[in-house]
Amino acid sequence: MRAVLKTTRDKGIELRDVPIPKPQAGEVLVKVKAAAICGTDLHLYEWTDWCENVGAKNPLVLGHEFCGEVVEVGEQVKSLKPGDLVAAETHIPCGHCNMCRTGKQHICQDMKILGVHTDGCFAEFAVLPEVCAWKLPAATPPKIGAVYEPFGIAVHGVLKDHIAGLSTVVIGAGPIGILCAAVAEAAGASQVFLTDPHDYRLELAKSVTQNVKTLHAKRDDVIAVIGSETGGQGADVVLEVSGSVSGVRTAFDLAGKGGRVTLIGLPSQEVPLDLVNNVIYKEARIYGITGREMFQSWYLAERFVDKIDLERVITHVFPLEEVEQAIATVQSRMAGKVVIQVQD
Ligand SMILES: [Zn+2]
Ligand SMILES: [Zn+2]
Repeated sequence: MRAVLKTTRDKGIELRDVPIPKPQAGEVLVKVKAAAICGTDLHLYEWTDWCENVGAKNPLVLGHEFCGEVVEVGEQVKSLKPGDLVAAETHIPCGHCNMCRTGKQHICQDMKILGVHTDGCFAEFAVLPEVCAWKLPAATPPKIGAVYEPFGIAVHGVLKDHIAGLSTVVIGAGPIGILCAAVAEAAGASQVFLTDPHDYRLELAKSVTQNVKTLHAKRDDVIAVIGSETGGQGADVVLEVSGSVSGVRTAFDLAGKGGRVTLIGLPSQEVPLDLVNNVIYKEARIYGITGREMFQSWYLAERFVDKIDLERVITHVFPLEEVEQAIATVQSRMAGKVVIQVQD
């Protein structure tokens, strides 16, 4: 099969022919139909320090966000059969640790990540543990199935705590930020603001959402506008998705008293914060969000999927042969979600 491989610690990837993997007990073999590119894949492409920090495998088949059809099941697989359409939950839990045994498999103490610690989905076939295969309705378009995973992060982040009737700010209009704004709107937030320094992304966000107010992170005085739009109270909910130091600091400035700050983006360095004024005196609640709750976020995503135009978040589709171009498109930031169409 053709697969996108990372074989060295240097920048770049190779498209190569490799043997089709064999599903072991408790695993399924999936014919990959569509896969989506994520920031994690860019780290692996460049082989940044992050890859060493998380112990990424090398050689590695890249990719973790995907949708495909089960073509073979290993021994002991009970819930799936050939022909089933599935999306991948990319956090592979051990099933035995304290977290796994207390309903928090997505933060398993011995967690592996698909396409980071195990071979991924930028290939014609991929092996997935049965526990990580989320069965989709057969009519789901594969490219929509491929973005369920990042959609689930937005669902998890927004619905982690109350949202209905609350003023909400999302910082960062990458695909997950746009989806956070869309989920907040669909779940009944009273006002939703989205801020980013790229006009392209703000325009895209407007086309995906209905009443979300976009603010340019550099041209607009975001703190002043949100202060006045919330009657001087500050935001009830701030979701930080940019992962930038300034984004995190702005998130805490924007949150009102008793507000919540939900951190989704990953800053690459330590962030200095005024904890006294921005957290303690405000009695702010802070949540860290990683991945999706297994499988509460997936059930909720299913309920929101018809309310949100996921198709519009996908701005580019490339065939597998053009994976380099697909990655360059993500790097340009002039894109929403970029999907690779692998097989029909
Ligand atoms: Zn991802
Ligand atoms: Zn575990």
